[in-house]
Amino acid sequence: MLSTVRKPFVIGQSKGITLPAAMQINDKGISMAASDRLIIMDTTGEIPHEALLQFFTNYVEPAFKQWQEGREHKETAARPGGFRPMEAEEQTPTQAKPGRVAIPPGFFPGPLVYEVTCPRCGRRFGWDVAGYGRKLYCFYCGMPIELIL
Ligand SMILES: [Zn+2]
Repeated sequence: MLSTVRKPFVIGQSKGITLPAAMQINDKGISMAASDRLIIMDTTGEIPHEALLQFFTNYVEPAFKQWQEGREHKETAARPGGFRPMEAEEQTPTQAKPGRVAIPPGFFPGPLVYEVTCPRCGRRFGWDVAGYGRKLYCFYCGMPIELIL
């Protein structure tokens, strides 16, 4: 396998690049297929260019597109201030630092609402203990519940 950077040169209306000398290159002609940014060549010229295009369309381009989207996703997630999926933040809870929040003037705290999980149906709901006491019925199944605080 080989990877390289080549500087294109202008040749008429087209641009040329040199192929690595170590490659087997058919001087009678090579076959190629390309999109707007990728190119695939058979330097032996044995594979007809139509077949090469089919291979390129069916395998190279879809794989490249998927791979490229993964790269862009990673770059975006790594960039400070970039958009991140929420699960990416949840994976690194140790990086979170405690923050301080200023409560705006004139703000009065609301009722203290506990989250209650029903022991019968398992559904959750909020319950204002200060306003309605410790005895309640499940909003969903009607199960009587007494909160132990
Ligand atoms: Zn219930």
